[in-house]
Amino acid sequence: MNSADPQKTKLRRRLLEWYRKNRILYPWRRTNDPYRIWLSEILLQQTRIPVVLRYYDRILRQFSTIEDLARADENAFLSVWSGIGYYSRAGNMLRCAREVVSLYGGKFPRNLPALLSLPGIGPYTAGALRNLCFHQLTPAIDGNISRVLARIANDSHRIDSKIFRDDIKRMFLELGDGMPAGEFFQSLMELGERVCLPKPDCPRCPVRFACLAHRNGTVPQIPRRRQKRKEQTYHWYLLLIRKGNAYCFVQNNKREFLKESWIFPDVLKKRKLSKQEITAAFKKSWGLDLKDVQICSTLRHTVTFRRLHVHVLETRLSRIPGVAGNWLQECDLPAYHTSSITYKVLQNL
Ligand code: SF4
Repeated sequence: MNSADPQKTKLRRRLLEWYRKNRILYPWRRTNDPYRIWLSEILLQQTRIPVVLRYYDRILRQFSTIEDLARADENAFLSVWSGIGYYSRAGNMLRCAREVVSLYGGKFPRNLPALLSLPGIGPYTAGALRNLCFHQLTPAIDGNISRVLARIANDSHRIDSKIFRDDIKRMFLELGDGMPAGEFFQSLMELGERVCLPKPDCPRCPVRFACLAHRNGTVPQIPRRRQKRKEQTYHWYLLLIRKGNAYCFVQNNKREFLKESWIFPDVLKKRKLSKQEITAAFKKSWGLDLKDVQICSTLRHTVTFRRLHVHVLETRLSRIPGVAGNWLQECDLPAYHTSSITYKVLQNL
């Protein structure tokens, strides 16, 4: 759709009217405070709204301003955060609050490069903050918004292509031009969450008259999915090192998957290893001298396109390892970002 499209004004009006009539007034929609809006945007990443509502209140009761959060002790904040997962988000939030207070006097900067330089703020969050807090129209594109815009334009480029991303950004700016930026952004988001779902409810859609995918009967194919990655099989060796009831955990910064999760010291290979090879691999990766490695169980686990044969190892160690880790009991795990495979391993012992 180009800016001269005669339907554009009608589309904008319908979208805004629909949003104003149907929006759900979440607490973060009843405030102009950038701190509260930022908090909601971070919480909404990968978390469902009922959970976000609980944590939003809980965090604000304890840290009602960005200065309170910037002063917070990391453990105090993590205990409020505990249970929601994705602990790197919590660490980034603290660092971000501290930078906003120390560099910008407690006020989020308005310009895009400065926002993007803050910890945990990527293009989507920076765009959302500029639209919602500063009323500056800025592309903030997530799955919901790209689905709605792609269908309206009947854009059949693959979702992970540059041309698709550029099209969607251009449409966002073109359609939002002259509209209240915050409401425009939220109206698209809300439409994607409630009507233009993967299986859309087109009869209820306020912008159906302008939707080219609906007109052409191509809705089920738009947006066009990325090519499915070929499944890959790995053998993943997890080493249990015990001290009393606790096990040694390390924070994963080696693997492409389960990044920053707390996992057992591990080795990942494309093929199955002999005991001798396992011992050599742990020596090479972790500097550990393993004695009498025993495979105590083998489990299956899938992470996206990776099929993992998980081999759980126990060993006598000639010395306690010097790896940078934490000794954790099962009851400590809810406060740490880990994976369901960790619980599966412990339950299988
Ligand atoms: S008509 Fe259907 S496919 Fe088109 S924007 Fe509305 S809900 Fe989405």
